[in-house]
Amino acid sequence: MDASPSPNAESTADLLQRARAARDTSSLVDGRELAQRAWLRSLQDGDEAQQAEAGHLLCHFHYRLGALIALLDIGDAVLVRLRRPERRETQAELLRWMAIAGCETGRFEGALRHANDLCTLAQESGDPRQLALALTTLGACFERMGDPWQAERLMDDAVRVAREANDLYAQLVTRNNLCAVCIGAFYLLRGSDDPADATAALRRALIHAREARSLLVYFKDPFFSVFVEGNLGEVLLHLGNTDEARGLLDGALQRGLEQGYEAQVARIRCSICELLLAQGQPDEARLALNALLKDIGATDPRSTLMRVHHALYRACRELGRVDNALQHLEQYERLERRRATNQLKAQSRLFVTRVEAEQSRLQAERARLEAQTERSRAAGFEADAQRDELTGLGNRRLLDHRLPMLLDAAAAQSLPLTVALIDLDHFKQINDSFGHAVGDKVLVEVAQKLRENTRSSDVLARIGGEEFLIVFADMPTGQALEICERLRSRVAAHDWESVSPGLSATLSVGIAHAPPYDIGTLFDQADRAMYRAKQGGRNQVAVA
Ligand code: GH3
Ligand code: MG
Ligand code: MG
Repeated sequence: MDASPSPNAESTADLLQRARAARDTSSLVDGRELAQRAWLRSLQDGDEAQQAEAGHLLCHFHYRLGALIALLDIGDAVLVRLRRPERRETQAELLRWMAIAGCETGRFEGALRHANDLCTLAQESGDPRQLALALTTLGACFERMGDPWQAERLMDDAVRVAREANDLYAQLVTRNNLCAVCIGAFYLLRGSDDPADATAALRRALIHAREARSLLVYFKDPFFSVFVEGNLGEVLLHLGNTDEARGLLDGALQRGLEQGYEAQVARIRCSICELLLAQGQPDEARLALNALLKDIGATDPRSTLMRVHHALYRACRELGRVDNALQHLEQYERLERRRATNQLKAQSRLFVTRVEAEQSRLQAERARLEAQTERSRAAGFEADAQRDELTGLGNRRLLDHRLPMLLDAAAAQSLPLTVALIDLDHFKQINDSFGHAVGDKVLVEVAQKLRENTRSSDVLARIGGEEFLIVFADMPTGQALEICERLRSRVAAHDWESVSPGLSATLSVGIAHAPPYDIGTLFDQADRAMYRAKQGGRNQVAVA
């Protein structure tokens, strides 16, 4: 593939096509270069769909190449462009990569936020694959934060959902992650006083690894085989089956290097070093580990870095290099302490309660899906039944379904919850002067503005002809007011002329908040605030 730049001659569409081809042939380095150019180019002269595709492709290449920080750096800018109903799956995929990248680099708070958004998105889609992948990602976050037990519970649920839906892709991803989680549990348990627990974790890891391997035949993608065989090799190594482990790890390493999967390569190299240790070659292990340590500084996968220090500690101890051993043990402990502190910080800032609430809702959703396995299509109908056809937002039924749960969750934790009732100004006049079709267009554009100016975990619904409601779970009034004020001014400033000459549109907003945790009171107050906004001259936000 020729990736040499020829400025001016290359259009965004052209660059995109070549980047797509690079993805399909797994040419990661060329592909990243092309996607990078497509992204920059599309920001200059491309439309939003091209920006969305270029950004998503660039993230794909960053993720596979293990450039996790680079991925996080542009991820948010890409996410904004993916927040449309027809791009829901792409959006979910990016949220998964960002959640994992956040955990791997110790940014737990952002990672949990992405995992949480992902769960909401999966809920809205009603698609079992999305649900299984969301649970797996949330589990992966918990594992990286040091809680493999919670992770295993979530992923066990995910496997069940994936199996019942007969979704091989979700099964492969989930089994593979479960394997990694059980290995993580083994690392935590192996130094403790209950070696039987550690061995049991390893046995579970083996089951998941073998299951994942049996699914590889359905997928041509080398990314999966490197992942799965690297994991299986790691398990066998710790079970003492060093010969089989060696074969798998060498094969996975070679393919990983060919493809440029840097984060995976680091992990496999670490396993091979531990293999040397297990085979009584601590000096070779120490040299290889030191070389690895130099290489992974740049990519920054924390979990591998911790493993390397721990292995170096053991190698040096065996070699009688007490000072070096102590140094590596201290480094390991420092990383472990940083991990623990970051975890506490992330969990203490509102998200753990959010995640817990989300999780219980997911369980409810799972029960609902399970009851429908015989008619899996029915799940799709159900999701459609809660979606507004014109705007793609939720509808009244979605709200009836979710608002009570959100209120209960908020009441249980004494958290604030704010709603914003939105009504378009003089909409009848717009219909009368410009026609119903233009009126519909205004509704669609306003819905898009709603998406762009809220978090994806906020609930958006069209509850009447030209009335919308936003539920800001876990948000105090002041912050909601800021968001609504921004939304109001963006709608007023929108280029309505381009929809139809002479057109303008504005909206009025009424804000109300819980406590009290009562739906009737909430609507009543929002309604009254809205009335004041209309009385005050429209195009304004009023708080109850
Ligand atoms: P106000 O500023 O007081 O809210 O004035 P308004 O004209 O918006 O008030 P009203 O609620 O009386 O008018 C709402 C209009 O919205 C009436 C109806 O024709 C129109 N409408 C309702 N649903 C739709 C729809 O799906 N598409 C279109 N184009 N118009 C709709
Ligand atoms: Mg109205
Ligand atoms: Mg109105």
